[in-house]
Amino acid sequence: MLKKSGFIDSKITDKRYATGDNFVSLLTFMGCSPNIELEPQEDKPYCYIEINTNEKETFYSGTNLKAAVCPECKTKITQITDPTGEILLCSNCHNEIQLSALNWRKTAFIAKSCIVIGNIYESEAIPNDQLLDALEEVSQSKWKYAYIRDA
Ligand SMILES: [Zn+2]
Repeated sequence: MLKKSGFIDSKITDKRYATGDNFVSLLTFMGCSPNIELEPQEDKPYCYIEINTNEKETFYSGTNLKAAVCPECKTKITQITDPTGEILLCSNCHNEIQLSALNWRKTAFIAKSCIVIGNIYESEAIPNDQLLDALEEVSQSKWKYAYIRDA
């Protein structure tokens, strides 16, 4: 589906793909001139797509993390070591927190699978409904997006 829709093109490495012909129309770009390099380059950053599938739920975050807080005591939660359960015990007040209640404000997420769009600045692009709906149709589950800065 990702290839057929023109979102991805050929494989560059094991998990990475070059952007497809229709890539830019499946995202909504903010600002007037998005500064992205769509062609794979030898010596400078370029936009790529990486498909990650894990055996179990995994916590993803980066250096731009906006910590979620315990709904009871407001202790910051910056890491989830075992995201496979649905409940986390607050390290401070020991209250049970539903993982689904934590709000990382689009800077972290828990997922088994994710699609990484690399080398686009935070909030510069948003996946549009056409892309999210197509992903939902093939996977039978709802897709969301977040921005992770990895350096
Ligand atoms: Zn707490």
